[in-house]
Amino acid sequence: MNVTILWDNFLEEIKKEITSLSYETWFQDTHLYALENGKATIIVPMEIHKRHLEDNYKDLIIQTFNNLAGSNFEIEFLLQEEIDEKKEIERRKEEEKEVIIPSNNNVQSNLNPNYTFENFVVGNSNKFAHAAALSVAENPGKMYNPLFIYGNSGLGKTHLMHAIGNFIVQNSNRRVLYVTSEQFIEDFLGINTKDDNGNNFNYIEYFKNKYRNVDVLIIDDIQFLGGATKTQQEFFHTFNTLYSDNKQIIISSDRSPDDLKVLEDRLRTRFCWGLTVDIFPPDFDLRVSILKKKILGGAIEREIPEDVIEYIASNMGNDVRQLEGSVNRLLAYSTIMGGQEINLDLAIEALKDFINKGVTEKNDIQKIQKRVAEFYQISSEDMKSKKRSANLAFPRQVAMYLCRKLTNESFPKIGMEFGGKDHSTVMHSCEKIEREMKTNKELAGTIEKLMKDIK
Ligand code: ADP
Ligand code: MG
Repeated sequence: MNVTILWDNFLEEIKKEITSLSYETWFQDTHLYALENGKATIIVPMEIHKRHLEDNYKDLIIQTFNNLAGSNFEIEFLLQEEIDEKKEIERRKEEEKEVIIPSNNNVQSNLNPNYTFENFVVGNSNKFAHAAALSVAENPGKMYNPLFIYGNSGLGKTHLMHAIGNFIVQNSNRRVLYVTSEQFIEDFLGINTKDDNGNNFNYIEYFKNKYRNVDVLIIDDIQFLGGATKTQQEFFHTFNTLYSDNKQIIISSDRSPDDLKVLEDRLRTRFCWGLTVDIFPPDFDLRVSILKKKILGGAIEREIPEDVIEYIASNMGNDVRQLEGSVNRLLAYSTIMGGQEINLDLAIEALKDFINKGVTEKNDIQKIQKRVAEFYQISSEDMKSKKRSANLAFPRQVAMYLCRKLTNESFPKIGMEFGGKDHSTVMHSCEKIEREMKTNKELAGTIEKLMKDIK
């Protein structure tokens, strides 16, 4: 109900209850100013009205008013000047609020200082991505813009992006901003949070200030922008603004721009303007190196024997996050077991429930076995059997040799895939084939051909 009508009705009711002199003296010139927070604010002409109404009519007013309003308001009497003062104070508060809104002059980079190039281990599977990242870090906005890094989870995309950011911050005074795409969405949705007056101007300024005033914008896991159509549009504008100012943009995703069907075409096209690099799962040697780096690099304080590291690298999949998790699990297990020495037995025990669960890579060993078995016209079962006849043993040795050469898997892992053979058997087979190839041209040729086929 409109406050004026409500007050008119109220005055009509009051009139019936008191003398006309009282009415004219105390009520005639009152107004209802506002109904807010359970309080009815009434404007009275003079100070004396306040006190008189308070002392003599308060109960009547409350009862009559709340009957009409159908609610339980408290009553407050104020002079017009007091209301003006209140308004002024509120206005000042608003102004102050505007000033407090972060100006982003000191950009919060959100960079994790632990993710650097120094502690990123480079191997075959990530050397292209690493080189591209370093090159962008050294020449932001010049060489490859945008840089788009994609690959499965846990392969080091986030690490590389932070490394770029940290490098730039350390070597220049460029402003770097790292955000996940979720964070970007959240910030963007802040725009739609209007203040009490339905005004959202400040948020828009804040958002633009945050995202368009940076020299390097890093957006992680862009695939999550999928559902957010409006946010995608905003990202498109942000992208264009930065791009046309030669600001560096770095994006990561779990899939290539072509496969990012959840995003608008115009965005995907732009992602391909610069350089697109992918990170592959690390091979055995790289897995070992990363694990060692994590241990030697100070992340892990206890000593872990070589065979335990190799065991983890062989059996816990190729997601680096899972490899790290395995080490942590092993450490925790050892502690729980009363600080037991870390050795292979303990590792097998600690990790038994997790083994192979993490293996996502298709099994290259099996592929090689199949290919070699076909070539020598033996069965895949015979390839893994314990039969020692020369017509089976020799192809088996060739296959083991190729597995070691092509997959970089450990001897124990290869042995396991060949029907549970000991790692020394695999080692000897590899040595034997290597030796023979030197004198046997035909064998060398065969192996070369098989290698080409398998690759
Ligand atoms: P992604 O973003 O691709 O899912 P992350 O960058 O979060 O993967 O990497 C997961 C974990 O693995 C991090 O702790 C990271 O430091 C580590 N990691 C991944 N690749 C490497 C590498 N090549 N060298 C050192 N650590 C790595
Ligand atoms: Mg990540």
